[in-house]
Amino acid sequence: MEIPYRVEHRNVKHPRLEFRNLQLLIVLPCHLKDPSEIMERRKAWIEKKWGQIQEAINNSNGVEGFIIFGEKYVIENKDIPKPVIDPMQRKITLNQESPRHRKQVIDQLKKLLKRKLLEIVNGYAEKTGFKPNKIVIRQQKTKWGSCSSKGIVSLNLKLICLPVEIIKYIVYHELIHLRHRKHNNEFWRELSREYPDYRHIERRIFEQWFVTEKLFQNLIGYNRSSKPLEQ
Ligand SMILES: [Zn+2]
Repeated sequence: MEIPYRVEHRNVKHPRLEFRNLQLLIVLPCHLKDPSEIMERRKAWIEKKWGQIQEAINNSNGVEGFIIFGEKYVIENKDIPKPVIDPMQRKITLNQESPRHRKQVIDQLKKLLKRKLLEIVNGYAEKTGFKPNKIVIRQQKTKWGSCSSKGIVSLNLKLICLPVEIIKYIVYHELIHLRHRKHNNEFWRELSREYPDYRHIERRIFEQWFVTEKLFQNLIGYNRSSKPLEQ
């Protein structure tokens, strides 16, 4: 099994493995040069995880082009003055070689997502009384969303690919963290009031992580997207 991987040396005590951007990231302590020992030792885990990622991608019927709010878009790579997201024709046109275009298309997606998130948050605020002090869209590497003790809800730009009902669930999940910081019984009880089938949704969301990584890779490229784009 050919698994793409990347080695990074950091000031850590023990080697660490994680999958990021559809690639195995091997974090090694500075004195360890050769990753083969940890790869051999964790072989079973690596192959199992990689298998799950492949399965998630194969099971989803859309990993070509891009997806916005669950709707498929084709990507046209063309040199035009600035990127265009056309919801009527379901088409995104941009010059994928241009760093400026890649940044602009990300900004456009952020705007689209922000509008949708405000709509969802306001709906829930009326219904439940949960209201964040601020919503921030970020390109987190490992999570869909988070909630700070200051009441700031951060949500991942990758949410834009998901169907609106799933986005609503993730927003609701973070809003409940405004009251219950941890995933304790009260948290899940509160969540299941609105989403009795939350376990099923959590499972779907887990699979979507890898699919959305692939979609962003289609749009703005692989190595390029590993550079932080947030300002
Ligand atoms: Zn949570």
